[in-house]
Formats: sequence, structure tokens, C-alpha cells
Amino acid sequence: MIKTDIIIIGAGPVGLFTVFEAGLLKLRCHLIDSLPQPGGQCSEIYPKKPIYDIPGFPEILAGDLINNLMAQAAPFKPGFTLGEAAETIDKNEDGTFTVTTVKGTQHHAPIVIIAGGLGVFEPRKPPIDNLGEFEDKGVEYMIKDPEIYRGKRCVLAGGGDSALDWSIFLAENNLASQVTLVHRSASFRGHLDSVQKVIDLSEQGKIELITEAEVTGISGESRLEQVQITHQTQGEITRNTDHFIPLFGLKPSLGPMASWGLTLEKGAIKVDTLDYSTNIPGIYAVGDVNTYENKLKLILCGFHEGTLAVQSAFARIFPEKKNVLKYTTVNGIQGFA
Ligand SMILES: Cc1cc2nc3c(=O)[nH]c(=O)nc-3n(C[C@H](O)[C@H](O)[C@H](O)COP(=O)(O)OP(=O)(O)OC[C@H]3O[C@@H](n4cnc5c(N)ncnc54)[C@H](O)[C@@H]3O)c2cc1C
Repeated sequence: MIKTDIIIIGAGPVGLFTVFEAGLLKLRCHLIDSLPQPGGQCSEIYPKKPIYDIPGFPEILAGDLINNLMAQAAPFKPGFTLGEAAETIDKNEDGTFTVTTVKGTQHHAPIVIIAGGLGVFEPRKPPIDNLGEFEDKGVEYMIKDPEIYRGKRCVLAGGGDSALDWSIFLAENNLASQVTLVHRSASFRGHLDSVQKVIDLSEQGKIELITEAEVTGISGESRLEQVQITHQTQGEITRNTDHFIPLFGLKPSLGPMASWGLTLEKGAIKVDTLDYSTNIPGIYAVGDVNTYENKLKLILCGFHEGTLAVQSAFARIFPEKKNVLKYTTVNGIQGFA
């Protein structure tokens, strides 16, 4: 059981900045995210795009903003449970909460702040009938720990940055013993330099590139052993493999949040703008996941919401303590040991 002051569901930009604001009030946070890395939409959808409306930054790449937010939160030593969606929130008899993930990891705190953005990012899966039978037995939809592919034969599929970059990573670092990239078109959607790199590695024999083809079947005894590839002109191709990693992107859905007993409106969590509290006392919702009159789904608005939510959380945890606003210029940052 992981114990903390505030459980933050969602490690996007808003969840990360909320850690900092909570830290100023000496409240510890633990973040849960279904993605393997922090950063939410900024990391997952547009890490290389410049953002122009972050106060004090005329221009900043979304990925750099996340790096900065991680550095800003670091003195307050947040904990992370990554690659696991929060599935249930249970209210305990003493008014505290237990948040349990899909993998059964339990978190305990008096306060929960939901910073779940657009929801859980679900992988787009190829239409292969028995795909589910091999999930976690050789079929993975995202790469959480590249080390598990060391010395293994890997077939990746997809034409975007994720498929290109991971193929390069597995091949260049001599991690996988064999890397095959299958893509249904002859052209790729990813960055031109990544496309060129894959072509170069293919010419060096480090990546087997099979374009105009799709993985249409998978088979194996207790684990994945083989993929069947249908080529547009060459017909059926078979490859023996240890892993099949279709990287076709992720689509967000509210997911488990919809069943937490929270008041929802237009697919978002309704909050009181006084402190961004939900209908359940002790649970707050900040960032893209919430809704109220005149809501704007902007990062800077989420930063404000997180700031007010932790002030209210402090008053709930320490009803007897007076909280006086202290400027960071005066007080500095007193990180946690
Ligand atoms: C292409 C694009 C460009 C944009 N440009 C701008 C811009 O210029 N300026 C601007 O201000 N905004 C911009 N935005 C919007 C901005 O990205 C969002 O407002 C911001 O990401 C919201 O942050 P968040 O932390 O609330 O949510 P998110 O970034 O969506 O992060 C939420 C996190 O919660 C996780 N999560 C959800 N449910 C669960 C669960 N049950 N368990 C565990 N984890 C969960 C998700 O995996 C995700 O990582 C842009 C968005 C896009 C897509």
C-alpha cells in the first residue's frame, strides 16, 4: 500500500504542476498514470510542437515543458505509478481513499485529485481475432521497459513516430536480436529524419522493413511464436518472433473514471470553481478532465485549478491549521528530504 497526502490520477502537465503547488504547502503527492511516461497529451501527442501560451515562455516545446515541470516538482519527491490505469476509488470508513490500479497496486490518501485529461489512452488494436489471447504473452501495445526485448525477436507494426523511433531504438542499441517493421503503406507519417534512419538501418541489415503489408494473424502455444503477414503483392509471409508490438497510436476515453460516482457533464467531471472540488468531498478534478461554466481546456487554466485545489485540500487535511500565502521569492523552496 502506497501512502501519501494526495493521490493525483493523471501525470499530465496539470497533475505535475499540482505536485509543486502541493509541495509548497508541505503536502506529498503520488501520481498514477496509465501511460508509461509522465506528460499526458504533451508527451504522448505533440512533444515536438511549440506551445506559445505558457506564461513567461514566448515559445516552448511541449516535451521541454514537461521536462521543466518534472524538474520543478522534483524537490517535492513525488512518487509515480506509471503504466497502470487507476481503476477504482474506494472511500474508507475514516473518510480517506484507496485508489487501486488495473494491476492491483493500492494507494492510500486523505485526498484524491483527478487530473485525468481526456481520459485513459487506449491503444488502437489491429483487427486480429485471437490478439487478446497473446496480450502480455508476446503482444504489447506500448513499450514500457525496452530491456524486456533484449536478445528477443521483435515484429513492430505502424507508420508513425512511435513505430519508427522504437524500431530504431531496439535495432541501434543492439537490444533486440531481430527487428522487423511492418507498415501497410510505402510512405510513413513520422518525422523525415526517423524515416531516413529506418531506411539506413534496413540497408545495413539491422531492421527488416516490410512495407505495403499488414500483420493479419498470430499464433503460438502458450506464448506468441509466429506472425503471419499479408503483403499486397507478395502474398503471405511468416516470421518467427517473440514479440509483436503494434504501435497504431492511442485514443483517449474517460474509461474507469465514468464509474467513480462523480457528477459528469458532457463527458467531463463537474466541479465547483470555488476550489475545483467534485460532488464527493475530498475528491477534486483539475485540468482538461473537469467542466464548469466558461471552462477552457488550456494548460494555464489547469495550473490555476491545481493551485486552488491544493489550498482546499490543505484545509481539509489540517482543519485546525491556518494557511498563510507565502511568496516563493520570500520563502524559497523547501523540498522534502
Ligand atoms: C495537438 C495539441 C495541441 C495543443 N496545444 C495547446 C496549446 O498550445 N496551449 C495549451 O494551453 N493547450 C494546448 N493543448 C491542450 C493541452 O495539451 C491540454 O489542455 C493539457 O494537456 C491538459 O493537461 P492535463 O494534465 O489536464 O491532461 P492530459 O495532458 O490529458 O493528461 C492526463 C493524463 O491522465 C492520464 N489518465 C487518465 N485517466 C487515467 C486513469 N484512470 N488512470 C491513470 N491515468 C489516467 C492519462 O494517461 C494522461 O497522461 C493542445 C492539445 C493538443 C492535442
